[in-house]
Amino acid sequence: MENKHVAVFAFPFGSHPMPLLNLVLKLAHAAPNTSFSFIGTHKSNAILFPKPYIPNNIKAYSISDGIPEGHVPGNNPVEKLNLFLKTGFDNLQKGILLAEADTKKRVTCIIADAFVTSSLLVAQTLNVPWIAFWPPLSCSLSLHLYTDLLRQHCANHAGNTTLDFLPGLSKLRAEDMPQDLLDVGEKETIFSRELVSLGRVLPQAKALVMNFFEELDPPLFVQDMRSKLQSLLYVDPLPSPLLPPSDTDSSGCLSWLDNKSSKSVVYVSFGTVGAPPPHELVAVAEALEQSGFPFLWSLKEDLRGLLPSGFVERTNMHGKIVSWAPQSQVLAHDSAGVFVTHCGSNSVAESLWSGVPMICRPFFGDHGVAGRMIEEVWEIGVMMEGKVFTTEGLVKRLNLIMVEEEGKKIRDNALKVKKTARAKGQGTNDLKTLVEIICGS
Ligand code: UDP
Repeated sequence: MENKHVAVFAFPFGSHPMPLLNLVLKLAHAAPNTSFSFIGTHKSNAILFPKPYIPNNIKAYSISDGIPEGHVPGNNPVEKLNLFLKTGFDNLQKGILLAEADTKKRVTCIIADAFVTSSLLVAQTLNVPWIAFWPPLSCSLSLHLYTDLLRQHCANHAGNTTLDFLPGLSKLRAEDMPQDLLDVGEKETIFSRELVSLGRVLPQAKALVMNFFEELDPPLFVQDMRSKLQSLLYVDPLPSPLLPPSDTDSSGCLSWLDNKSSKSVVYVSFGTVGAPPPHELVAVAEALEQSGFPFLWSLKEDLRGLLPSGFVERTNMHGKIVSWAPQSQVLAHDSAGVFVTHCGSNSVAESLWSGVPMICRPFFGDHGVAGRMIEEVWEIGVMMEGKVFTTEGLVKRLNLIMVEEEGKKIRDNALKVKKTARAKGQGTNDLKTLVEIICGS
């Protein structure tokens, strides 16, 4: 048991590495004699390490981000993804060599973010099990196992047609699909080809680990994924016991919320990667001002200049703008009434966990699927019409969720979903199974 050594490959972009580290913290806690080597880039590791709560059996190793010396990547975030993915097998192999030399232990198992597909080849070369971790929204996995059908359907049908052929996910629509998965010919990138390859790659994983609550996924979807994969495990996305709740509230968000009444505050955040276009940011600001609800807005410093002139001064009695909020604690606060979100998978899980209804403005990737699940499957929120912010559209949705009788069903459903997520479920058993796989390898 002492000689077990798990190499962990992060997809070092956006919010992918954090949930993977959270999983590794849980595993390191459950298997204290196993070594975990967390392999990311210098930049992604600098954000995650060193932290005082990282136990001795987790160590970080950095590999290249693939950006050539002297090259400054442009604004398109996919360029960085492509450069990293292009480094492929050789770069990952360097990470293994670093980890083995330092720990003096042979790698016995690989856990990788599913987007780092060349790690399968590394596992095959080392002849060790390959375990894939799925940080996007769980249901979006189905799209990667039905890509050919999906492409045919989307090429031949209008955006609002439903995807009846996806088991358990017949409410999803063509328009909800990630564009990267549909791009063919000249539009293809290394990243989009990688996404398409997942249908072939993931069934080779010894186990695929979802970062979600099995109890909230449609049973037919779960059953279908089980039939296509060697093993499907759900480890719930809750913070590891090794992650101390941050007790610093440097931005003052939590104390500000303490002075607001129950379920009265609109929380707005668009995650760490994207932002709505400038005219939509103006619409959000106008809707917050017109509706008059207290609001807390996590808005990056460089976007503040886009707000309508005088907005901050006019709203500072009932609104608070910060460049970073302790989001999961904000959503867990009794004052949080609604979350205006881009539907990133972490944001959605945090909102579900706290029973906060959502107003959805998906940007890209799995966001469209998440928005549809929120509106039509869990019925715990609403999508912006045409998936864009308008002043009138947002005011209408804020009123619906915050005060109107018609929104009661949505508010009640959010509380029901919270209860389901919090009931001790499959996640605990599946974590044990995962530990057994790692320790038995
Ligand atoms: N987040 C936060 N404070 C902020 C903005 C974001 O703590 O002010 C966290 C949020 O809680 C979530 C993550 O950043 O865990 C964003 O991840 P998500 O998957 O929702 O979106 P992405 O950043 O990948 O677009």
